[in-house]
Amino acid sequence: MDRTYLIKPALNADYPVVDYGKGIYLYDLQGKRYLDGASGAVTANIGHGVEEIVEAMKKQAEKVSFVYRAQFSSEPAEKLAEKIANSVPGDLNWSFFVNSGSEATETSMKIAIQHWQEKGKPTKNRILSRWVSYHGITMGALSMSGHPARRARFTSLLEDCPVIPPPYCYRCPLGLKPEDCGLQCARELETAIRRIGADNIAAFIAEPVVGAAGGALTPPAGYYIEIKEICDRHDILFIADEVMTGFGRTGTMLACEQWGVIPDIVALGKGMGAGYAPIAATLASERVMEPILNGTKSIMSGHTLSANPQSCAVSLAVLEYMDDQSILKEVKRKGDYLMMSLEQLNIEFPFIGDIRGKGLMIGVEFVEDAVSKKSFSRDINFTARLVNIAQELGLLIYPAGAGIDGISGDAVIISPPLTISLKEMDELVVLLKSALTELSLQLNDTREV
Ligand code: PMP
Repeated sequence: MDRTYLIKPALNADYPVVDYGKGIYLYDLQGKRYLDGASGAVTANIGHGVEEIVEAMKKQAEKVSFVYRAQFSSEPAEKLAEKIANSVPGDLNWSFFVNSGSEATETSMKIAIQHWQEKGKPTKNRILSRWVSYHGITMGALSMSGHPARRARFTSLLEDCPVIPPPYCYRCPLGLKPEDCGLQCARELETAIRRIGADNIAAFIAEPVVGAAGGALTPPAGYYIEIKEICDRHDILFIADEVMTGFGRTGTMLACEQWGVIPDIVALGKGMGAGYAPIAATLASERVMEPILNGTKSIMSGHTLSANPQSCAVSLAVLEYMDDQSILKEVKRKGDYLMMSLEQLNIEFPFIGDIRGKGLMIGVEFVEDAVSKKSFSRDINFTARLVNIAQELGLLIYPAGAGIDGISGDAVIISPPLTISLKEMDELVVLLKSALTELSLQLNDTREV
């Protein structure tokens, strides 16, 4: 090809061209094999080329791919909504289907605001969020994202939703120690609510395990119980952005379940279609929907392709496949195994600062100095170099970190398809070790020069 007409993430980069995928592997047109240690962007949760999903896609495409949701409902959409309601905890019984995680979080904020309007409380319209977070790239979703690098160009168009620090125990933003911090980072929400006034706040949104912005930041055990209690006490809805963590990534349908917390609204995406079709959802509880059902009787949001039967049939097939193969049952064991293998690498590579995560969403943070936890200088470009070296060696890993010196520094997420075997996991770790060794050599060379 002489030139490209396609706008890709890095316009000056030569991307390999994919040919096909099977299981946890992808193959490019040159026949080179890549172990998908990231499930793309924590998306291909059941691996590539699964026959059952391809069959379901074909069957639905032969019937009907698209109907407009204001004209028809469809069996796949109805069945998917029912199956999700039966698979998640509590009474999160209502699903609004959209096409991306950003649309799902943006719809969450709209449903939250509408909920209070229908209850006669129109001033309750602010959404609060945390720094070191990512909720999506559309303006509403970006407003909620505590990700300075992604906000920078658009600040004049964005609302200031991020108001509290994240639960980032490795680098506690409040300078406390997890053993005796009294969950001060959760209590900061109460302080923010008092400052802004509960009468002005519709909801608080958080990623149960922080993904792209932090690299699988995992809060201490009682954190979400405290957050939910604060939200309830002040009549503020709790939105869990489970776009990355949901649909089994951490071993349960929702990550929040593992802390015994049921959100009022949930955003799902990524694993919902497992990469076979674009689909995402906003789930709402009976309590959230009640004033809307008794009031306007319609959600003021939607997209042309919302709830299209093709994507819904895919997501339904993904859920059925996950049930048939008992995929969730194995996630914790596999995650523990991965964590243990990464701990071994920690001994060998002094620049590994922290390893954290839940289920098969594991973050590794890198530091120049493990004792002081000093981050690498931005010029070193540690994360991008590691990700590129790994890809050259045939391993895909997901870059994370908000790119702010001393805050979230350099990190990657290791998140292979949930279907990975332990033998394949060993191969992943060997490849990662080779990439770390190569980068280590390069860094030593630079230092000696
Ligand atoms: N929320 C979270 C937690 C995410 O990880 C992402 C994507 N990285 C999004 C929202 C946005 O999803 P999408 O890219 O599908 O719009």
